Amino acid sequence: MFKKILIANRGEIALRVICACKELGIETVAVYSEADQQSLHVRFADQAVCIGPARSSDSYLNIASIISAAEITNADAIHPGYGFLSENDHFAEVCEVSHITFIGPRPEAMRLMGNKDAARKKMAELGLPVLPGSGVLTSLAEALEAAQQIGYPVMVKAAAGGGGRGMRVVASSEELPHFFATAQQEAQAAFGTPDVYLEKYIASPRHIEFQVLADHYGKVVHLGERECTIQRRHQKLLEESPSTQISFEVRHEVGRQVVEALKETGYTNAGTVEFIMDENRNLYFLEMNARIQVEHPVTEMVTGLDLVKKQIEIAAGQPLDISAETVSLRGHAIECRICAENPETFAPSAGKIIGFNVPGGLGVRLDTAAYAEAVVPPYYDSLIAKLVVHGSDRAEAISRMARALDMFIIEGISTSVPLHQKIMADPDFRAGKFDTHYLSRFSRNGTG
Ligand code: ADP
Ligand code: ADP
Ligand code: MG
Repeated sequence: MFKKILIANRGEIALRVICACKELGIETVAVYSEADQQSLHVRFADQAVCIGPARSSDSYLNIASIISAAEITNADAIHPGYGFLSENDHFAEVCEVSHITFIGPRPEAMRLMGNKDAARKKMAELGLPVLPGSGVLTSLAEALEAAQQIGYPVMVKAAAGGGGRGMRVVASSEELPHFFATAQQEAQAAFGTPDVYLEKYIASPRHIEFQVLADHYGKVVHLGERECTIQRRHQKLLEESPSTQISFEVRHEVGRQVVEALKETGYTNAGTVEFIMDENRNLYFLEMNARIQVEHPVTEMVTGLDLVKKQIEIAAGQPLDISAETVSLRGHAIECRICAENPETFAPSAGKIIGFNVPGGLGVRLDTAAYAEAVVPPYYDSLIAKLVVHGSDRAEAISRMARALDMFIIEGISTSVPLHQKIMADPDFRAGKFDTHYLSRFSRNGTG
Protein backbone atom coordinates (compact mmCIF):
# COMPACT_ATOMS: atom_id res chain seq x y z
CA MET A 1 0.00 0.00 0.00
CA PHE A 2 1.06 3.61 -0.54
CA LYS A 3 2.72 5.48 2.32
CA LYS A 4 1.87 8.97 1.16
CA ILE A 5 -0.63 10.36 -1.35
CA LEU A 6 -0.59 13.86 -2.82
CA ILE A 7 -4.02 15.24 -3.65
CA ALA A 8 -3.95 17.36 -6.80
CA ASN A 9 -7.22 19.17 -6.12
CA ARG A 10 -9.05 21.50 -3.76
CA GLY A 11 -12.42 21.91 -2.07
CA GLU A 12 -14.71 19.12 -0.96
CA ILE A 13 -13.13 16.44 -3.16
CA ALA A 14 -9.65 17.11 -1.72
CA LEU A 15 -11.12 16.62 1.76
CA ARG A 16 -12.98 13.52 0.59
CA VAL A 17 -9.70 11.94 -0.52
CA ILE A 18 -8.02 12.96 2.75
CA CYS A 19 -10.82 11.13 4.65
CA ALA A 20 -10.21 7.93 2.68
CA CYS A 21 -6.43 8.18 3.24
CA LYS A 22 -6.81 8.75 6.97
CA GLU A 23 -8.97 5.65 7.26
CA LEU A 24 -6.44 3.61 5.28
CA GLY A 25 -3.56 4.89 7.40
CA ILE A 26 -1.93 6.75 4.49
CA GLU A 27 -0.23 10.13 4.94
CA THR A 28 -1.48 13.01 2.81
CA VAL A 29 -0.02 16.02 1.03
CA ALA A 30 -2.29 18.91 0.07
CA VAL A 31 -1.38 21.34 -2.68
CA TYR A 32 -2.95 24.78 -2.71
CA SER A 33 -3.01 28.04 -4.60
CA GLU A 34 -2.38 31.41 -2.96
CA ALA A 35 -6.17 31.87 -2.80
CA ASP A 36 -6.60 28.66 -0.80
CA GLN A 37 -4.19 29.17 2.09
CA GLN A 38 -7.04 29.06 4.61
CA SER A 39 -8.74 26.02 3.08
CA LEU A 40 -9.67 22.95 5.08
CA HIS A 41 -7.81 20.56 2.79
CA VAL A 42 -4.62 22.42 3.74
CA ARG A 43 -5.49 22.17 7.40
CA PHE A 44 -6.38 18.48 7.48
CA ALA A 45 -3.59 17.10 5.28
CA ASP A 46 -0.37 16.01 7.00
CA GLN A 47 1.68 18.31 4.76
CA ALA A 48 0.80 21.15 2.41
CA VAL A 49 2.66 22.77 -0.46
CA CYS A 50 1.76 26.05 -2.17
CA ILE A 51 1.88 25.47 -5.93
CA GLY A 52 1.24 28.94 -7.31
CA PRO A 53 -1.09 31.90 -7.77
CA ALA A 54 -4.88 31.75 -7.68
CA ARG A 55 -5.42 31.16 -11.38
CA SER A 56 -5.93 27.41 -12.01
CA SER A 57 -3.58 27.44 -14.99
CA ASP A 58 -0.82 28.64 -12.64
CA SER A 59 -1.62 26.25 -9.78
CA TYR A 60 -4.05 23.32 -9.90
CA LEU A 61 -3.34 22.79 -13.61
CA ASN A 62 0.39 23.39 -13.29
CA ILE A 63 1.84 19.93 -13.89
CA ALA A 64 5.47 20.90 -13.18
CA SER A 65 4.59 22.45 -9.79
CA ILE A 66 2.47 19.49 -8.76
CA ILE A 67 5.11 16.91 -9.71
CA SER A 68 7.77 18.94 -7.84
CA ALA A 69 5.51 19.04 -4.78
CA ALA A 70 5.14 15.25 -4.96
CA GLU A 71 8.90 14.81 -5.33
CA ILE A 72 9.94 17.07 -2.46
CA THR A 73 7.41 15.46 -0.12
CA ASN A 74 8.21 11.91 -1.28
CA ALA A 75 4.62 11.12 -2.20
CA ASP A 76 4.31 7.76 -3.93
CA ALA A 77 0.92 8.39 -5.54
CA ILE A 78 -1.28 11.27 -6.73
CA HIS A 79 -5.07 11.37 -6.53
CA PRO A 80 -6.43 13.90 -9.07
CA GLY A 81 -10.04 14.15 -7.79
CA TYR A 82 -12.44 15.37 -10.51
CA GLY A 83 -12.07 18.33 -12.85
CA PHE A 84 -8.59 19.94 -13.14
CA LEU A 85 -6.04 17.27 -14.23
CA SER A 86 -8.23 14.24 -13.54
CA GLU A 87 -8.83 13.44 -17.21
CA ASN A 88 -5.48 14.66 -18.53
CA ASP A 89 -3.67 11.65 -20.00
CA HIS A 90 -0.47 13.66 -20.39
CA PHE A 91 -0.44 14.30 -16.63
CA ALA A 92 -0.97 10.58 -15.99
CA GLU A 93 2.01 9.87 -18.25
CA VAL A 94 4.21 12.43 -16.49
CA CYS A 95 3.33 10.78 -13.17
CA GLU A 96 4.33 7.44 -14.62
CA VAL A 97 7.74 8.58 -15.86
CA SER A 98 8.29 10.30 -12.50
CA HIS A 99 7.63 6.96 -10.74
CA ILE A 100 4.55 8.30 -9.00
CA THR A 101 1.36 6.23 -9.25
CA PHE A 102 -1.53 8.12 -10.84
CA ILE A 103 -4.70 6.98 -9.06
CA GLY A 104 -6.93 6.44 -12.08
CA PRO A 105 -7.06 4.52 -15.34
CA ARG A 106 -4.05 3.96 -17.62
CA PRO A 107 -3.16 6.92 -19.88
CA GLU A 108 -4.32 5.04 -23.00
CA ALA A 109 -7.77 4.44 -21.49
CA MET A 110 -7.99 8.12 -20.53
CA ARG A 111 -7.01 9.15 -24.05
CA LEU A 112 -9.71 6.94 -25.57
CA MET A 113 -12.46 8.16 -23.25
CA GLY A 114 -11.30 11.78 -23.45
CA ASN A 115 -12.25 11.81 -27.12
CA LYS A 116 -16.03 11.40 -27.14
CA ASP A 117 -16.15 10.53 -30.81
CA ALA A 118 -13.54 7.77 -30.46
CA ALA A 119 -15.23 6.49 -27.29
CA ARG A 120 -18.62 6.34 -29.07
CA LYS A 121 -17.11 4.32 -31.91
CA LYS A 122 -15.33 1.96 -29.54
CA MET A 123 -18.39 1.36 -27.37
CA ALA A 124 -20.61 0.79 -30.42
CA GLU A 125 -18.06 -1.74 -31.65
CA LEU A 126 -18.25 -3.46 -28.25
CA GLY A 127 -22.03 -3.76 -28.42
CA LEU A 128 -23.34 -0.75 -26.51
CA PRO A 129 -26.18 1.14 -28.24
CA VAL A 130 -25.23 4.66 -29.38
CA LEU A 131 -27.37 7.43 -30.87
CA PRO A 132 -27.24 8.00 -34.62
CA GLY A 133 -24.38 10.41 -35.17
CA SER A 134 -21.33 11.31 -37.21
CA GLY A 135 -17.57 11.11 -36.79
CA VAL A 136 -15.46 14.26 -36.42
CA LEU A 137 -16.49 16.71 -39.14
CA THR A 138 -13.98 18.86 -40.96
CA SER A 139 -16.20 20.88 -43.31
CA LEU A 140 -19.66 22.42 -43.34
CA ALA A 141 -20.59 20.39 -46.43
CA GLU A 142 -19.76 17.22 -44.55
CA ALA A 143 -21.79 18.41 -41.56
CA LEU A 144 -24.83 19.22 -43.71
CA GLU A 145 -24.76 15.81 -45.28
CA ALA A 146 -24.35 14.02 -41.95
CA ALA A 147 -27.19 16.02 -40.37
CA GLN A 148 -29.44 15.16 -43.30
CA GLN A 149 -28.79 11.48 -42.73
CA ILE A 150 -29.27 11.64 -38.95
CA GLY A 151 -32.39 13.80 -39.26
CA TYR A 152 -32.98 17.13 -37.45
CA PRO A 153 -32.87 18.15 -34.67
CA VAL A 154 -29.22 17.29 -34.11
CA MET A 155 -26.66 18.31 -31.52
CA VAL A 156 -23.19 19.61 -32.39
CA LYS A 157 -20.82 18.41 -29.69
CA ALA A 158 -17.15 19.03 -28.98
CA ALA A 159 -15.18 15.76 -29.14
CA ALA A 160 -13.04 16.91 -26.20
CA GLY A 161 -15.97 18.54 -24.38
CA GLY A 162 -16.88 18.29 -20.72
CA GLY A 163 -18.63 20.13 -17.92
CA GLY A 164 -21.70 20.62 -20.13
CA ARG A 165 -19.85 23.00 -22.44
CA GLY A 166 -19.39 22.89 -26.19
CA MET A 167 -22.88 21.66 -27.14
CA ARG A 168 -25.43 23.23 -29.49
CA VAL A 169 -28.89 22.10 -30.55
CA VAL A 170 -29.55 22.57 -34.27
CA ALA A 171 -33.18 22.49 -35.41
CA SER A 172 -32.75 22.75 -39.17
CA SER A 173 -30.25 22.98 -42.04
CA GLU A 174 -30.63 26.79 -42.02
CA GLU A 175 -29.18 26.91 -38.51
CA LEU A 176 -26.33 24.51 -39.08
CA PRO A 177 -23.76 26.85 -40.73
CA HIS A 178 -23.88 29.28 -37.81
CA PHE A 179 -23.89 26.69 -35.01
CA PHE A 180 -21.28 24.51 -36.67
CA ALA A 181 -18.85 27.44 -36.89
CA THR A 182 -19.47 28.71 -33.36
CA ALA A 183 -19.23 25.19 -31.91
CA GLN A 184 -15.84 24.72 -33.60
CA GLN A 185 -14.59 28.07 -32.30
CA GLU A 186 -15.83 27.37 -28.78
CA ALA A 187 -14.32 23.91 -28.80
CA GLN A 188 -10.97 25.36 -29.88
CA ALA A 189 -11.09 28.03 -27.19
CA ALA A 190 -12.29 25.80 -24.34
CA PHE A 191 -10.68 22.44 -25.12
CA GLY A 192 -7.77 23.25 -27.44
CA THR A 193 -9.15 21.38 -30.46
CA PRO A 194 -11.89 22.38 -32.92
CA ASP A 195 -13.08 18.77 -33.37
CA VAL A 196 -16.87 18.50 -33.28
CA TYR A 197 -19.32 15.73 -34.21
CA LEU A 198 -23.08 15.41 -34.54
CA GLU A 199 -25.49 13.34 -32.51
CA LYS A 200 -29.24 12.88 -32.82
CA TYR A 201 -30.89 15.33 -30.38
CA ILE A 202 -33.29 13.75 -27.89
CA ALA A 203 -35.99 16.30 -27.03
CA SER A 204 -37.08 14.98 -23.64
CA PRO A 205 -34.27 12.84 -22.24
CA ARG A 206 -33.13 11.55 -18.90
CA HIS A 207 -29.49 11.11 -17.94
CA ILE A 208 -28.66 7.75 -16.41
CA GLU A 209 -25.15 6.49 -15.69
CA PHE A 210 -23.52 3.30 -14.44
CA GLN A 211 -20.70 3.27 -11.89
CA VAL A 212 -17.96 0.72 -12.43
CA LEU A 213 -14.82 -0.45 -10.64
CA ALA A 214 -12.13 -2.47 -12.41
CA ASP A 215 -8.96 -3.94 -10.95
CA HIS A 216 -5.67 -4.81 -12.65
CA TYR A 217 -6.55 -8.51 -12.94
CA GLY A 218 -9.49 -8.31 -15.33
CA LYS A 219 -12.24 -8.05 -12.74
CA VAL A 220 -14.91 -5.46 -13.54
CA VAL A 221 -17.93 -4.83 -11.31
CA HIS A 222 -20.80 -2.38 -11.79
CA LEU A 223 -22.48 -0.70 -8.82
CA GLY A 224 -25.82 0.10 -10.40
CA GLU A 225 -26.99 3.41 -11.79
CA ARG A 226 -27.41 7.05 -10.85
CA GLU A 227 -30.13 9.26 -12.25
CA CYS A 228 -28.66 12.72 -13.02
CA THR A 229 -31.46 14.23 -15.05
CA ILE A 230 -31.95 17.37 -12.96
CA GLN A 231 -29.50 19.72 -14.69
CA ARG A 232 -28.89 23.34 -15.51
CA ARG A 233 -26.87 24.22 -18.62
CA HIS A 234 -26.21 20.50 -19.19
CA GLN A 235 -24.60 20.36 -15.73
CA LYS A 236 -25.95 18.12 -13.01
CA LEU A 237 -27.51 19.74 -9.94
CA LEU A 238 -29.17 16.78 -8.21
CA GLU A 239 -28.51 13.06 -8.45
CA GLU A 240 -30.13 9.96 -7.03
CA SER A 241 -29.72 6.21 -6.90
CA PRO A 242 -31.46 4.03 -7.88
CA SER A 243 -33.34 5.58 -10.82
CA THR A 244 -37.13 5.25 -10.86
CA GLN A 245 -36.77 4.40 -14.56
CA ILE A 246 -34.56 1.34 -14.22
CA SER A 247 -36.04 -2.04 -13.35
CA PHE A 248 -34.06 -4.82 -11.74
CA GLU A 249 -33.88 -6.58 -15.12
CA VAL A 250 -32.67 -3.52 -17.04
CA ARG A 251 -30.03 -2.78 -14.38
CA HIS A 252 -28.81 -6.32 -14.61
CA GLU A 253 -28.74 -6.37 -18.42
CA VAL A 254 -27.21 -2.92 -19.04
CA GLY A 255 -24.78 -3.46 -16.16
CA ARG A 256 -23.71 -6.71 -17.78
CA GLN A 257 -23.16 -5.02 -21.17
CA VAL A 258 -21.12 -2.25 -19.55
CA VAL A 259 -18.95 -4.74 -17.66
CA GLU A 260 -18.34 -6.82 -20.80
CA ALA A 261 -17.41 -3.74 -22.86
CA LEU A 262 -14.97 -2.48 -20.23
CA LYS A 263 -13.36 -5.89 -19.87
CA GLU A 264 -12.64 -5.76 -23.60
CA THR A 265 -10.96 -2.36 -23.35
CA GLY A 266 -8.85 -3.38 -20.33
CA TYR A 267 -10.18 -0.39 -18.38
CA THR A 268 -8.95 -0.04 -14.79
CA ASN A 269 -9.92 1.88 -11.64
CA ALA A 270 -13.23 3.75 -11.15
CA GLY A 271 -15.25 5.06 -14.07
CA THR A 272 -18.73 6.07 -15.11
CA VAL A 273 -20.53 5.08 -18.27
CA GLU A 274 -23.10 7.76 -19.10
CA PHE A 275 -26.29 7.05 -21.03
CA ILE A 276 -29.09 9.17 -22.33
CA MET A 277 -32.59 7.70 -22.07
CA ASP A 278 -35.10 8.62 -24.77
CA GLU A 279 -38.88 9.02 -24.41
CA ASN A 280 -39.34 5.26 -24.94
CA ARG A 281 -36.85 4.37 -22.23
CA ASN A 282 -34.16 3.27 -24.66
CA LEU A 283 -30.65 3.84 -23.32
CA TYR A 284 -27.82 5.11 -25.53
CA PHE A 285 -24.16 5.48 -24.59
CA LEU A 286 -23.18 9.18 -24.28
CA GLU A 287 -19.63 9.19 -22.93
CA MET A 288 -17.43 7.67 -20.28
CA ASN A 289 -15.88 9.67 -17.45
CA ALA A 290 -12.57 8.07 -16.54
CA ARG A 291 -12.39 9.40 -12.97
CA ILE A 292 -14.28 9.65 -9.70
CA GLN A 293 -17.41 11.74 -10.21
CA VAL A 294 -18.93 14.54 -8.19
CA GLU A 295 -22.02 12.41 -7.50
CA HIS A 296 -20.21 9.22 -6.38
CA PRO A 297 -21.62 9.54 -2.79
CA VAL A 298 -25.14 8.44 -3.82
CA THR A 299 -23.68 5.13 -4.98
CA GLU A 300 -21.69 4.88 -1.74
CA MET A 301 -24.85 5.39 0.29
CA VAL A 302 -26.82 2.61 -1.43
CA THR A 303 -23.94 0.13 -1.72
CA GLY A 304 -22.12 0.89 1.54
CA LEU A 305 -18.81 0.91 -0.38
CA ASP A 306 -16.14 3.63 -0.14
CA LEU A 307 -15.33 4.34 -3.79
CA VAL A 308 -12.27 6.47 -3.10
CA LYS A 309 -10.74 3.74 -0.93
CA LYS A 310 -11.46 1.30 -3.73
CA GLN A 311 -9.67 3.60 -6.20
CA ILE A 312 -6.62 3.71 -3.95
CA GLU A 313 -6.58 -0.05 -3.35
CA ILE A 314 -6.93 -0.77 -7.06
CA ALA A 315 -4.12 1.66 -7.93
CA ALA A 316 -1.92 -0.04 -5.31
CA GLY A 317 -2.41 -3.31 -7.16
CA GLN A 318 -4.89 -4.98 -4.83
CA PRO A 319 -7.50 -7.26 -6.38
CA LEU A 320 -11.13 -6.10 -6.08
CA ASP A 321 -12.69 -7.79 -3.07
CA ILE A 322 -16.26 -7.38 -4.28
CA SER A 323 -18.28 -9.10 -6.99
CA ALA A 324 -21.67 -8.89 -8.69
CA GLU A 325 -22.99 -11.33 -6.07
CA THR A 326 -21.82 -9.33 -3.05
CA VAL A 327 -22.92 -5.89 -4.25
CA SER A 328 -26.46 -5.06 -3.23
CA LEU A 329 -28.36 -1.80 -3.41
CA ARG A 330 -30.10 -0.79 -0.22
CA GLY A 331 -32.69 2.00 0.07
CA HIS A 332 -32.49 5.26 -1.82
CA ALA A 333 -29.96 8.12 -1.85
CA ILE A 334 -30.18 11.69 -3.13
CA GLU A 335 -27.44 14.31 -3.52
CA CYS A 336 -28.06 18.04 -3.83
CA ARG A 337 -25.15 20.04 -5.21
CA ILE A 338 -24.95 23.24 -3.21
CA CYS A 339 -23.28 25.88 -5.36
CA ALA A 340 -22.29 29.40 -4.44
CA GLU A 341 -24.51 31.04 -7.01
CA ASN A 342 -27.70 32.96 -7.50
CA PRO A 343 -30.44 30.29 -7.41
CA GLU A 344 -32.37 31.94 -10.24
CA THR A 345 -29.76 33.25 -12.65
CA PHE A 346 -27.01 30.76 -11.67
CA ALA A 347 -24.51 33.65 -11.65
CA PRO A 348 -21.53 32.77 -9.36
CA SER A 349 -21.67 34.29 -5.88
CA ALA A 350 -18.22 34.40 -4.32
CA GLY A 351 -17.54 36.04 -0.94
CA LYS A 352 -17.35 35.43 2.76
CA ILE A 353 -19.62 32.93 4.50
CA ILE A 354 -20.99 34.58 7.65
CA GLY A 355 -23.52 32.27 9.28
CA PHE A 356 -23.06 28.53 8.89
CA ASN A 357 -25.05 25.64 10.36
CA VAL A 358 -24.85 22.13 9.00
CA PRO A 359 -27.62 19.52 9.14
CA GLY A 360 -26.99 16.08 10.63
CA GLY A 361 -28.89 13.14 12.02
CA LEU A 362 -29.73 9.71 10.70
CA GLY A 363 -28.99 9.22 7.02
CA VAL A 364 -27.52 12.69 6.41
CA ARG A 365 -24.05 13.21 4.96
CA LEU A 366 -22.40 16.49 4.11
CA ASP A 367 -19.29 16.63 1.93
CA THR A 368 -17.97 20.17 2.11
CA ALA A 369 -14.88 22.29 2.64
CA ALA A 370 -16.98 25.28 3.68
CA TYR A 371 -17.06 26.70 7.23
CA ALA A 372 -18.16 29.84 9.04
CA GLU A 373 -15.93 32.81 8.05
CA ALA A 374 -14.52 30.94 5.03
CA VAL A 375 -14.06 32.98 1.89
CA VAL A 376 -15.36 31.37 -1.33
CA PRO A 377 -12.90 32.52 -3.98
CA PRO A 378 -14.21 33.53 -7.42
CA TYR A 379 -11.59 31.58 -9.36
CA TYR A 380 -12.91 28.03 -9.22
CA ASP A 381 -15.98 25.84 -9.67
CA SER A 382 -18.94 27.15 -7.66
CA LEU A 383 -19.65 23.82 -5.89
CA ILE A 384 -19.23 24.37 -2.13
CA ALA A 385 -21.09 21.43 -0.61
CA LYS A 386 -22.81 18.18 -1.44
CA LEU A 387 -25.71 17.35 0.81
CA VAL A 388 -26.44 13.65 0.57
CA VAL A 389 -29.20 11.68 2.27
CA HIS A 390 -30.09 8.03 2.50
CA GLY A 391 -33.59 6.70 3.23
CA SER A 392 -35.28 3.33 3.21
CA ASP A 393 -37.10 4.38 0.06
CA ARG A 394 -37.35 7.40 -2.27
CA ALA A 395 -40.17 9.04 -0.30
CA GLU A 396 -38.18 8.90 2.93
CA ALA A 397 -35.05 10.19 1.18
CA ILE A 398 -37.03 13.18 -0.15
CA SER A 399 -38.49 14.09 3.26
CA ARG A 400 -35.08 13.69 4.83
CA MET A 401 -33.48 15.94 2.20
CA ALA A 402 -36.22 18.54 2.67
CA ARG A 403 -35.65 18.73 6.43
CA ALA A 404 -31.84 18.69 6.04
CA LEU A 405 -32.05 21.60 3.57
CA ASP A 406 -34.20 23.51 6.07
CA MET A 407 -31.49 23.06 8.71
CA PHE A 408 -28.63 24.03 6.38
CA ILE A 409 -27.81 27.69 6.96
CA ILE A 410 -25.27 29.45 4.75
CA GLU A 411 -25.32 33.23 5.13
CA GLY A 412 -23.24 35.87 3.37
CA ILE A 413 -23.38 34.34 -0.11
CA SER A 414 -26.19 33.10 -2.34
CA THR A 415 -26.52 29.35 -2.77
CA SER A 416 -28.69 26.81 -4.54
CA VAL A 417 -30.30 25.70 -1.23
CA PRO A 418 -33.61 27.55 -1.96
CA LEU A 419 -33.82 25.96 -5.41
CA HIS A 420 -33.35 22.48 -3.95
CA GLN A 421 -36.07 23.24 -1.39
CA LYS A 422 -38.46 24.04 -4.22
CA ILE A 423 -37.55 20.83 -6.02
CA MET A 424 -38.18 18.71 -2.90
CA ALA A 425 -41.65 20.26 -2.56
CA ASP A 426 -42.57 19.81 -6.20
CA PRO A 427 -45.21 17.11 -6.93
CA ASP A 428 -43.64 16.26 -10.31
CA PHE A 429 -40.23 15.67 -8.76
CA ARG A 430 -41.80 13.62 -6.01
CA ALA A 431 -43.63 11.54 -8.62
CA GLY A 432 -40.37 11.03 -10.56
CA LYS A 433 -41.76 12.96 -13.54
CA PHE A 434 -38.96 15.04 -15.07
CA ASP A 435 -36.54 15.33 -17.97
CA THR A 436 -33.33 17.33 -18.47
CA HIS A 437 -35.35 20.53 -19.05
CA TYR A 438 -37.03 20.25 -15.67
CA LEU A 439 -35.22 23.23 -14.09
CA SER A 440 -36.24 25.67 -16.80
CA ARG A 441 -39.58 26.04 -14.99
CA PHE A 442 -37.81 27.42 -11.90
CA SER A 443 -35.57 29.91 -13.65
CA ARG A 444 -34.80 31.79 -16.78
CA ASN A 445 -31.58 29.88 -17.40
CA GLY A 446 -32.52 26.31 -16.55
CA THR A 447 -31.41 24.84 -19.83
CA GLY A 448 -29.37 25.71 -22.89
P1 ADP B 1 -19.62 14.75 -12.99
O1 ADP B 1 -19.77 14.18 -14.37
O2 ADP B 1 -18.67 14.10 -12.07
O3 ADP B 1 -20.90 15.11 -12.38
P2 ADP B 1 -19.10 17.31 -14.03
O4 ADP B 1 -19.37 16.98 -15.45
O5 ADP B 1 -20.01 18.22 -13.30
O6 ADP B 1 -18.85 16.03 -13.20
O7 ADP B 1 -17.62 17.82 -13.94
C1 ADP B 1 -16.90 17.77 -12.75
C2 ADP B 1 -16.00 18.91 -12.69
O8 ADP B 1 -15.08 18.85 -13.74
C3 ADP B 1 -16.70 20.23 -12.83
O9 ADP B 1 -15.98 21.11 -12.05
C4 ADP B 1 -16.56 20.54 -14.32
O10 ADP B 1 -16.61 21.92 -14.54
C5 ADP B 1 -15.20 19.95 -14.59
N1 ADP B 1 -15.00 19.41 -15.93
C6 ADP B 1 -15.47 18.26 -16.43
N2 ADP B 1 -15.01 18.05 -17.66
C7 ADP B 1 -14.22 19.08 -17.98
C8 ADP B 1 -13.44 19.44 -19.12
N3 ADP B 1 -13.35 18.67 -20.20
N4 ADP B 1 -12.78 20.60 -19.09
C9 ADP B 1 -12.82 21.37 -18.00
N5 ADP B 1 -13.53 21.09 -16.90
C10 ADP B 1 -14.22 19.97 -16.87
P1 ADP C 1 -20.32 16.47 -20.91
O1 ADP C 1 -19.06 15.85 -21.41
O2 ADP C 1 -20.29 17.94 -20.96
O3 ADP C 1 -20.75 15.89 -19.62
P2 ADP C 1 -22.40 14.82 -22.19
O4 ADP C 1 -22.27 14.26 -23.55
O5 ADP C 1 -22.22 13.90 -21.06
O6 ADP C 1 -21.40 16.06 -22.01
O7 ADP C 1 -23.81 15.54 -22.08
C1 ADP C 1 -24.17 16.34 -20.98
C2 ADP C 1 -25.67 16.58 -21.00
O8 ADP C 1 -26.07 17.24 -22.22
C3 ADP C 1 -26.51 15.34 -20.95
O9 ADP C 1 -26.69 14.86 -19.64
C4 ADP C 1 -27.80 15.83 -21.57
O10 ADP C 1 -28.57 16.60 -20.67
C5 ADP C 1 -27.31 16.75 -22.66
N1 ADP C 1 -27.14 16.00 -23.92
C6 ADP C 1 -26.00 15.48 -24.41
N2 ADP C 1 -26.20 14.86 -25.59
C7 ADP C 1 -27.52 14.98 -25.86
C8 ADP C 1 -28.36 14.55 -26.95
N3 ADP C 1 -27.87 13.85 -27.98
N4 ADP C 1 -29.69 14.87 -26.90
C9 ADP C 1 -30.19 15.58 -25.86
N5 ADP C 1 -29.45 16.01 -24.83
C10 ADP C 1 -28.13 15.73 -24.82
MG1 MG D 1 -21.16 13.89 -19.29
